Amino acid sequence: MHSFRVKLGHDAHPVYVGAGALEQTGRLARKAGLAAGRALIVTDANVARLFGERVTASLAESGFTARTLEVAPGEQSKSFATLEQVFDAMVEAELDRTSTVFALGGGVVGDLAGFAAATYMRGVALVQIPTTMVAQVDSSLGGKTAINHPRAKNLIGAFYQPRLVLADTSVLGSLPRRELLAGYAEIVKYGLIRDAEFFAWLEADGHRVCALAPEALRHSVLTSCAMKAEIVAGDEREEGDRALLNFGHTFGHALETETGFSSRLLHGEAVALGMVLATDLAVKLDLVGADDALRVRRHLADCGLPTRLAEIGLDGIPAERLLGHMSKDKKVRDGRITLILPRRIGDAFVMKNAPIEKLREFLTPAAA
Ligand code: NAD
Repeated sequence: MHSFRVKLGHDAHPVYVGAGALEQTGRLARKAGLAAGRALIVTDANVARLFGERVTASLAESGFTARTLEVAPGEQSKSFATLEQVFDAMVEAELDRTSTVFALGGGVVGDLAGFAAATYMRGVALVQIPTTMVAQVDSSLGGKTAINHPRAKNLIGAFYQPRLVLADTSVLGSLPRRELLAGYAEIVKYGLIRDAEFFAWLEADGHRVCALAPEALRHSVLTSCAMKAEIVAGDEREEGDRALLNFGHTFGHALETETGFSSRLLHGEAVALGMVLATDLAVKLDLVGADDALRVRRHLADCGLPTRLAEIGLDGIPAERLLGHMSKDKKVRDGRITLILPRRIGDAFVMKNAPIEKLREFLTPAAA
């Protein structure tokens, strides 16, 4: 296992990446300074069946008294009703301010349990144990927690940092292929925004990551986590460079809105398409070379991610509709669209006030 520390102001917390982390949950939690008292594991039914026992046993060995709450798998659990269930379980488990919440699962569990930990008794310790690729390389790091409002995703939330993150890459073997690839899109994102060498490595070795070769998997997850941690450390509240992490997300958000945030298009698939659209737009704006755009599209397609709107039945969608969705993204300020665009592979920048006319022209059907 490899580890590094995420430094944020006066605080820092460790992140462990590698096979076998689950079995060490209790020991590493103690090592991170958490009191071996009452604890609540929040997980979903799929993850509980696969890994619940390993985490519970490890916590018991290290002296924790942990109860488990299983929520229903899926985005619908990021709701007020499920949050109430989490609070009820915290009260029933008699958690106090020295207790710890262990979020064992994908981004849904991490966001939900994280928000509950941020607010219960004004904050109890949180450990993120991400079990999907998306959660390991993205949602478990950076401290964003939230539930959805019926009218908008992630609307009710808090910045709340975990005390420890345990990314056990061996758990990714049971993920459905589509979920794995959706997470891989976020890995590609890190190469594109910040690290050309990493992107080149992915072009050569990405197929090994997707085939779950342990060493390639560990390297890609570790590199991605470390890059996210570094960006977040420089800008915890997203006032500057953290926005780069939204590369592909504003276009992606429009596509997810259009498909009703349904399983027709997973978030990572939307990000893959969004990165292709952002790069193609950058070509049109003479910001990046067509060769780079081709590399982006080719690599994502080689991995089995969607790169054309036609693949998800969204070709022919009016530009005005997509623009409407894009301008409702919560990253949009004062009706101005901010886009993250590449200058070259490994170097993206924040374009505030993107030229709407050019964008409209670009989005006019048959653009991608
Ligand atoms: P998810 O949590 O819904 O998990 C996807 C599915 O995989 C679920 O059915 C789950 O039960 C199952 N699963 C989890 N681990 C498994 C494993 N190892 N083997 C087999 N099945 C497993 O989805 P996700 O993609 O992990 O997360 C998506 C959520 O994350 C969204 O709500 C999104 O808003 C949020 N998110 C948050 C941030 C952040 O910074 N906080 C960043 C990105 C995404």
